[in-house]
Amino acid sequence: MALINEHYLKLKAGYLFPEISRRVSAFAKSHPGMKIIKMGIGDVTQPLAPSVIKAFHEGVEEMGNAETFKGYGPEQGYDFLRKAIAENDYQNNKINVSAEDIFISDGSKCDTGNIQEIFGYDNKIAICDPVYPVYADTTVMAGKTGVCSADGYFENIIYMPCTEENNFIPQLPKEKADLIFLCFPNNPTGAVATKEVLKKWVDYALENKSIILFDGAYEAFITEKDIPHSIYEIEGAEKVAVEFRSLSKTAGFTGTRCAFTVIPEKLKACDSKGEMHSVKPLWMRRQTTKFNGTSYPVQKAAAAIYSENGKKEIKTTIRYYIENAGIIHKSFSAMGFKVYGGINSPYIWLKTKNNMKSWDFFDKLLNEANIVGTPGAGFGPSGEGYFRFSAFADRESVLEAMERVKKLFS
Ligand SMILES: *Cc1c(COP(=O)(O)O)cnc(C)c1O
Repeated sequence: MALINEHYLKLKAGYLFPEISRRVSAFAKSHPGMKIIKMGIGDVTQPLAPSVIKAFHEGVEEMGNAETFKGYGPEQGYDFLRKAIAENDYQNNKINVSAEDIFISDGSKCDTGNIQEIFGYDNKIAICDPVYPVYADTTVMAGKTGVCSADGYFENIIYMPCTEENNFIPQLPKEKADLIFLCFPNNPTGAVATKEVLKKWVDYALENKSIILFDGAYEAFITEKDIPHSIYEIEGAEKVAVEFRSLSKTAGFTGTRCAFTVIPEKLKACDSKGEMHSVKPLWMRRQTTKFNGTSYPVQKAAAAIYSENGKKEIKTTIRYYIENAGIIHKSFSAMGFKVYGGINSPYIWLKTKNNMKSWDFFDKLLNEANIVGTPGAGFGPSGEGYFRFSAFADRESVLEAMERVKKLFS
């Protein structure tokens, strides 16, 4: 008799985005012809940069020619890409990350989920609340949690509330955490961590022999000076942190798929006897067993974001999104909302007025302005009363949406 992994039954059935779709479809059906503006899901809208497309085509051509055809690639990813990443994202900014420590993959979603596999069952895992759902759900799938309680929290996960009161920066947990997921600039709140904040976490990890799993998917959106772009800007982080980066939001690769994970040589974790082991060989072993790499044309396209033109082109697109974020931020602030994020992030996180619940605000916007956003409560219990707008829509839609909300709220 085949048995299922019963931990999957503990998951709340992928509630957020399907529920949004359900409500949007129902509304569209009863209001045919109405133009609905979508600013909900965190997906990019602008096409790949010209340099990326050119390299992508070249990669495809090479695959069609016996002399340049490529089969399986190197397990960690092609040298040309790992070197370009090490130099441009790290070494040129005086951050000591070597190409040897970089693993190319087809996404940070899978990497942040899969990484759990190389760590033991008895780790206590800390996540922010609200949070990108992948960290919590993969912890549940791995059987490391109890059931989900009525208030939306899984047993045996340490939740770190991120609200207005702490400026959306989690406090160090009172309980000892072994694996800590951090994401800055944050999805969904748009908050960023200063050097001081990250130093506090790195020191905590050093002291407690914990490991920080740092998701830097939105690094490219940092516009303010002095905000760290990598956890490795903090002294000692190479001993306690894994860093995940993705080209999805940086360069519009959500449908093309390329990301990378940094596991420094010095990163170590204990076995049950207290002996220390390097983490990198475990990830190498995991990847070589279960993953056969990102396609050659995609890696070639990815490397093009580090060319001179590529850098300029992706910056232009990021600026476009950041300007969208600025427009949304300004509009809602002018209507008297408390607005967060949107400065170093494509996400605007706003507080509803008069303690309106996230889903009520969602319905109001959908029904009265035909705009779709994301209810904050969908990212975790502490997101209740908040709402997320994504700035990835095109400019025209953003401007029209802001006209509509002005009519609704002023
Ligand atoms: C979009 C996003 C990613 C990127 O995931 P990919 O699988 O690389 O597309 C990672 N982390 C967060 C928090 C995100 O929002």
